[in-house]
Amino acid sequence: MKKAVDGLVLREMPVGENDKLLTVLTAGEGRIYLTAKGARSMRSKVMPICRLFTYANLEYYEKNDRRWLSGGSVNECFFGLNSDIEGFSLASYVVQVAAEITGEGVRAAEILRMTLNTLYCIEKKQKPYGQIKAVYELFAAVASGFAPDLGHCSVCGCRNHGQFWLDVMNGHLICGDCLGKRSGNLPLPEVDPSGARNILLPLDPSATASLRYVCEAPLARIFAFSLTEGESMALFSRAAETYLLNHLERGFDTLDFYQSVKEST
Ligand SMILES: [Zn+2]
Repeated sequence: MKKAVDGLVLREMPVGENDKLLTVLTAGEGRIYLTAKGARSMRSKVMPICRLFTYANLEYYEKNDRRWLSGGSVNECFFGLNSDIEGFSLASYVVQVAAEITGEGVRAAEILRMTLNTLYCIEKKQKPYGQIKAVYELFAAVASGFAPDLGHCSVCGCRNHGQFWLDVMNGHLICGDCLGKRSGNLPLPEVDPSGARNILLPLDPSATASLRYVCEAPLARIFAFSLTEGESMALFSRAAETYLLNHLERGFDTLDFYQSVKEST
């Protein structure tokens, strides 16, 4: 029996002579895998729906415990991503993170929607790439159950301070005064008494406000804030990336690639 699902191609991997194995993000079943027979042949009718970043209605049938792609149509292909290497490499990182945070057989409507919005935002260059990347990283951390508590200093409870620090492993803020008292103004040891690594990242008021905004904003408004390029953006970006990588406990080859592209442009 034929079935169909709307899905975003997160990864295309060559298999055999002419086939592809697709990793696809769907709303209803999270991450699924589809084998596309003959998809690498120029004559293949499924080739256009098997490309990375393509959001398509995918028709398939099930046989031998696998899903086999039989046809479909493109909803959105984000073609503009191919024209800019930095945007392309950022989009590659975004979909690799999406695959990491999505389970198999688990609903992922929010992750799908956010990932599509993010690819659109990159393609149309609606915000600086550093900002788009950080927003997606924070979203991914929150979606994975690692939402930081950014309301107040975790020690004295103050909400506004000229210098907060993000305590990455404990997922909260500490103000400059409390940090100074805790450490006696000396560098903190690498591991705290509870065995967690001490990763403390400085934030200025704009970076703090941006982190708070992203972690609380509805998806439709999550990119709708401005942060000037420069010091605040650098602190915000560094906090988002460090936070996600340390909570997922892994790196991403696509992130390394994005960083190398950025350095060379
Ligand atoms: Zn404090």
